[in-house]
Amino acid sequence: MSERVDVAILGTGPAGLSAAITLKIRNKKILLLGSKELSGKVVKAHEINNYLGIPAVKGEELAKHFADHLRQMEIEITEDMITNVYAMGEYFSLQSKSNQIYEADAVIISTGVNFGKPYPGEEQFLGRGVSYCATCDAPLYKGKRVALIGSSPKEEAEARFMSEVAAEVYYVPLYKDEVQLGDAVKVVKDIPVSIEGKMKADKLILKEQELEVDGIFILRESVSPAQLVPGLAMEENHIAVNRKMETNLKGCFACGDIVGAPYQYIKAAGEGNVAALSAVSFLDQKKRSEVK
Ligand SMILES: Cc1cc2nc3c(=O)[nH]c(=O)nc-3n(C[C@H](O)[C@H](O)[C@H](O)COP(=O)(O)OP(=O)(O)OC[C@H]3O[C@@H](n4cnc5c(N)ncnc54)[C@H](O)[C@@H]3O)c2cc1C
Repeated sequence: MSERVDVAILGTGPAGLSAAITLKIRNKKILLLGSKELSGKVVKAHEINNYLGIPAVKGEELAKHFADHLRQMEIEITEDMITNVYAMGEYFSLQSKSNQIYEADAVIISTGVNFGKPYPGEEQFLGRGVSYCATCDAPLYKGKRVALIGSSPKEEAEARFMSEVAAEVYYVPLYKDEVQLGDAVKVVKDIPVSIEGKMKADKLILKEQELEVDGIFILRESVSPAQLVPGLAMEENHIAVNRKMETNLKGCFACGDIVGAPYQYIKAAGEGNVAALSAVSFLDQKKRSEVK
């Protein structure tokens, strides 16, 4: 486990990066978690015309400006995806897809809105046959049958790893690219519909067939916030925050698309700045109460 930081920031889109920069200026020890390639929503944008000070900029170019800014400020990205954030009272414990545990006094959630709707049965069986992290939960399925639903080719590594542990592995790709997996994994080109079971999930229902399995891994680019942080108050699909970007959990802040529309770069970056400054106030208050 790495050393506890002041603030962990989840997501490397405009919201998370802006929060990281402000926290660095305020001399906080930060952990910026996400992809080193930054947000796909920035990189893939054709042309952006409403980002202040940089007119008619291609997404790739804007991402380069962001990366240069991080480099200049000596901010590192830790390439990892967080699957669970637990409020432990005095601090937060973060579990990652690569099975790392991180600790932070405060957390900023800036994970965007890619999660999509859960499958029927997914939330009901979460932790009882349904998991989001193959690396974390693979040992539970030693010698068993599992199915993995992969949202991008990146998830094929998880299926490959699972095939070293489980007796039978099915992989359902949700994308059109060619799947590069060996004979140990059965690739099923079909559309997931729902998850069924009794005490535990035991069946993945697809459009054309059913898979009887002991475990189902749903590997998305992002996890819905309510599943990511147990106890987090939501407003429909978004995290509920006030103007300080505070959530209902003390020390947990959220910003960017994840807190609601309009979905815009400059709004996300602005909210990242507010969340960072609110986290600074929270840490100062915490320190004062510890001294008393
Ligand atoms: C094609 C396209 C064009 C657009 N054009 C414009 C435009 O011209 N002008 C404009 O203002 N807006 C535009 N937008 C909207 C803009 O992209 C978003 O509003 C903005 O990117 C939101 O920033 P964010 O930081 O909140 O989230 P995102 O940019 O979505 O970043 C979130 C990041 O968090 C990461 N993440 C998710 N879950 C986790 C986790 N559990 N752990 C670690 N990391 C995680 C994701 O991989 C992602 O990199 C466009 C969007 C698209 C898709």
